Amino acid sequence: MVDLRALPSVDRILQTGLASEWVAFYGHPLTVDAIRITLAEVRSKYKEDRKVPEVNEILERVSEQLTRWTAASLTPVINATGVIIHTNLGRAPLSKSSIEALHAAAQGYTNLEFDLDTGKRGSRLVHAEALLKRLLDVEAALVVNNNAAAVLLVLTALAKRRAVVIARSQLVEIGGGFRVPDVMKQSGARLVEIGTTNRIHLTDYEKALQEEPVALVMRAHRSNFRIVGFTSEPELSEITEVSHQFGVPVVDDLGSGSLFDTSRFGLGHEPMVQESLSGGVDLVCFSGDKLLGGPQAGIIVGSSELVAKLKKHPLARAIRADKLCLAALSATLIHYIKDEALSEIPVWRMISAPVTDLKSRVCGWIERLGIGEPADGLSTVGGGSLPGETIPSCLLSLKVSSPNRFLSCLRSCEFPIISRVEEDRVVFDPRTVLPEQDEILLAGIHDALQRC
Ligand SMILES: *Cc1c(COP(=O)(O)O)cnc(C)c1O
Repeated sequence: MVDLRALPSVDRILQTGLASEWVAFYGHPLTVDAIRITLAEVRSKYKEDRKVPEVNEILERVSEQLTRWTAASLTPVINATGVIIHTNLGRAPLSKSSIEALHAAAQGYTNLEFDLDTGKRGSRLVHAEALLKRLLDVEAALVVNNNAAAVLLVLTALAKRRAVVIARSQLVEIGGGFRVPDVMKQSGARLVEIGTTNRIHLTDYEKALQEEPVALVMRAHRSNFRIVGFTSEPELSEITEVSHQFGVPVVDDLGSGSLFDTSRFGLGHEPMVQESLSGGVDLVCFSGDKLLGGPQAGIIVGSSELVAKLKKHPLARAIRADKLCLAALSATLIHYIKDEALSEIPVWRMISAPVTDLKSRVCGWIERLGIGEPADGLSTVGGGSLPGETIPSCLLSLKVSSPNRFLSCLRSCEFPIISRVEEDRVVFDPRTVLPEQDEILLAGIHDALQRC
């Protein structure tokens, strides 16, 4: 076609069989919009190159437009990076029962705020609280939207316009814009920095507590980096003892908040929630979707007197957890209560997967693909925990002509695959690939090998 007059009208396109399918599937208004926009594009392009595409091509473009407009941008991907709690890839995958609980809560009504015994209004806070009390032997617990919100709530409700003592070595940035000093400022609490970047002594705490009335002593886990060399920090139990002598509560922002001892798996020791509690901390805050292995949530456990103040604060309402989170979190906590967390929670299954198992999976992949070699490699925990710590793994290593282009091809698969390049080879770590995704992974790699 060379002449714009040959261009079909919106109405003529609407009369085609294809367009009636679009109308049935996407609705009339969206279909009309897509046709209009496509025709307008053709017209404006005509001004430049004096060419009009064939009708079939125009129809093809309308169809692509409709697909683009109705595709969710949030989509599942395969994590072959070997970073277990990958924040950019959505952190912890949920256990089977957590997914079932989430599904059941999403599908219909729940007793979220309804007391089935009395038939009267109940509280959404009771569901996870009962489980956390049983699991951690704490007086009280509160679940909010995420851990950043949990820390903000604690500081706002307990220390607004008052002094909060914290060591300089803990004024950290966690990532995603979470900076401990900024969160403190946001809460209206006044920061009282003590000690130096590398060393803090018990007497620093004592002096600060003597100098002025203090609302809280805070400790924040450094999470994503380490301080080595000439360093010192008092034991948590010493800090809580001194603070309590002054009648000041201690709050510990643990970040990952592991319930298991990570050193059991050849890793360093990540601070545990149980250790903070036995160290006398009054409130511990941690994430639901880091080492706990559940949905996004901020969990606060500890003193019932302080938790009661948090629950009453208006901010608590603004950052409350939703029913889907509470359903999935409850199911995750039940795994710990039943002592089956290591085998049921994906994050812990990944951390504890033996290299021999990973190696046989990789060999199976290679056999199916007919290409690639097994290679020694390292997985990491991620999620701002255990910086610098690695777990030995076995990788699938592929030699391709352009590794970075191949990575991009993998990302453009129907089920996107995220992997990495190591020494000019594209590598896939089976540790973070869910076993039920093996088929999709192999089909994706196969497809990318054809296309790139
Ligand atoms: C990750 C982290 C947070 C933020 O937790 P989210 O659940 O991501 O909001 C806060 N404090 C520390 C120490 C962390 O490691």
